[in-house]
Amino acid sequence: MDYGLTDEVRNLRGRMRRFIDEEVIPQEAELLDREGDGRAVLEDLKRSAKAQNLWALGHPEEIGGGGLAFMPFVYLNEIIGRSEFGQLAVGSVSMQDSIMLHLYASPQQRERWLKPLVAGDIYPSVGLTEPEVAGSDPTLMQTTARLEGDEWVISGHKWFTSGANRAAFTTVFCKTDPEAPRHLQFSSVIVPTDTPGYEIVRVIPVMGGQHGSHCEVQLNDVRVPHDNLLGPRGKGFVIAQQRLGPGRIFHCMRWLGQAQRAFELMCLRANSRFAHGSLLAEKGEIQRYVAESAAQIQACRLMTLDAASVMDGGDEARVEISLIKFYGAQMLHDVIDRAIQVHGALGLTADTPLERMYRDARGGRMYDGPDEVHRMVVARRLLKDCRNAPWAF
Ligand SMILES: Cc1cc2nc3c(=O)[nH]c(=O)nc-3n(C[C@H](O)[C@H](O)[C@H](O)COP(=O)(O)OP(=O)(O)OC[C@H]3O[C@@H](n4cnc5c(N)ncnc54)[C@H](O)[C@@H]3O)c2cc1C
Repeated sequence: MDYGLTDEVRNLRGRMRRFIDEEVIPQEAELLDREGDGRAVLEDLKRSAKAQNLWALGHPEEIGGGGLAFMPFVYLNEIIGRSEFGQLAVGSVSMQDSIMLHLYASPQQRERWLKPLVAGDIYPSVGLTEPEVAGSDPTLMQTTARLEGDEWVISGHKWFTSGANRAAFTTVFCKTDPEAPRHLQFSSVIVPTDTPGYEIVRVIPVMGGQHGSHCEVQLNDVRVPHDNLLGPRGKGFVIAQQRLGPGRIFHCMRWLGQAQRAFELMCLRANSRFAHGSLLAEKGEIQRYVAESAAQIQACRLMTLDAASVMDGGDEARVEISLIKFYGAQMLHDVIDRAIQVHGALGLTADTPLERMYRDARGGRMYDGPDEVHRMVVARRLLKDCRNAPWAF
């Protein structure tokens, strides 16, 4: 397998590493204060990233990004992910939304939403999940949009609409064609968050997630122009899928960075803490933590690169993405957990980043599809392949 790490990407990775380790990580305490001083600190970091040509490197070139393919971006996003604020600082936090808009937005929508999104001037949000029905089965969504004249009138209830309280718009997935076959009933509509009837009920207190906010949103007869339809009517599931696939691989890339940082902290601690006659690094059990963590991280890195290369070839990589989504989330949990263990009581305090990384990692097994659903996708496909072509299996 060609791992695709060119000299150019190696160089970029080195520059990104300096930016994240020397500029972003030292500011994490301030960045946690998102409503206060953190905002100004973040804006300074964004300016610095732009000045160093580290901004929006994974967004398509035609819309003002660096145009990196998925493969090289694995190497880069792993570095960006070392800090949970990295993506915000270098303009890669909304890449799945820019990919979706790049594929489906009309010229007017591109001008109004996509360009400022890539520039980091506005944030997007996406509303699929609803409290009343299972988010893991989107065919159950109850939010509706009906056409009245040249306006969509949208009614419904969403939650976990991440970042809605800061976003300029929400791409709302809603039922527009109840009489159509089940998978053609839904469409996506862009709703500016300042539209009358769009109400943020609350920011939901969520375990972890200190770098984001997750909102409950009520849509009370929200009226938007017919032109706010994103992509073809009835193609909501296709559009959502084309956002979710890249979104999942970006999570996995970022998790590699979080896990690598926890791993480094674990090794540093093991090499310096003395107990029962020797350094922790000399204990067999601690060496097992180190070796198992290294193996899990490397396995995930290779699986992520594999999925990225399949995606760069133009395939959706449904199985490859589902594989790393559940395997990567577990890897992240396990590595941070061992790092905390090696730190003893210190690992449970806020004196190291590990406790907040651990809290944040838990959501990875849930968002963009719970583990069980991704395992189901993988197993169903493999079992079908085995049935259809056992000789090629
Ligand atoms: C931090 C965070 C951010 C999020 N951001 C967004 C966002 O921006 N926009 C958005 O629309 N949504 C968002 N979500 C919602 C997320 O995508 C959903 O939580 C997820 O799809 C699961 O839906 P649910 O919570 O309704 O769980 P349910 O669908 O009710 O599932 C509950 C549990 O049932 C089990 N289960 C479900 N299906 C199966 C199956 N087929 N086989 C076996 N077991 C199964 C699993 O254990 C699952 O955890 C976010 C969630 C989190 C935690």
